[in-house]
Amino acid sequence: MPSILEKKCIEKGLKMTEQRRVIARVLSDASDHPDVEALYGRATKIDPNISIATVYRTVKLFEDAHIIERHDFGDGRARYEEIPEQHHDHLIDLRSGKVIEFANEEIERLQERIAHELGYKLVDHRLELFCVPLSESAS
Ligand SMILES: [Zn+2]
Repeated sequence: MPSILEKKCIEKGLKMTEQRRVIARVLSDASDHPDVEALYGRATKIDPNISIATVYRTVKLFEDAHIIERHDFGDGRARYEEIPEQHHDHLIDLRSGKVIEFANEEIERLQERIAHELGYKLVDHRLELFCVPLSESAS
């Protein structure tokens, strides 16, 4: 069965080679915002012939086609995720590297208001909260 991401690729008219299909599946199955190294590790478990260069090229292709999103969570590594159905923002735990997804209507409305007050219509935004655990900052 094709993955959701693979279906999107086909809808966008991308030519789907077997290796692209594998990478699409790995991205579709991921829930942890993997970087290229992690994707490469998972993809080669399915097809050992996939090269890291192919993974780089394929994520670039998917990103350019607006099928996946690239994130920069401040550690210098690009992370990827399937464009979600429902918008969410990210909180990054700087100690563990854990990424927590959240959505907040108040923030969404506030951003629209700020854009509006400056004479703009908001079409997209990115929000990343860089955090340390409360227990740590209290000590
Ligand atoms: Zn996310």
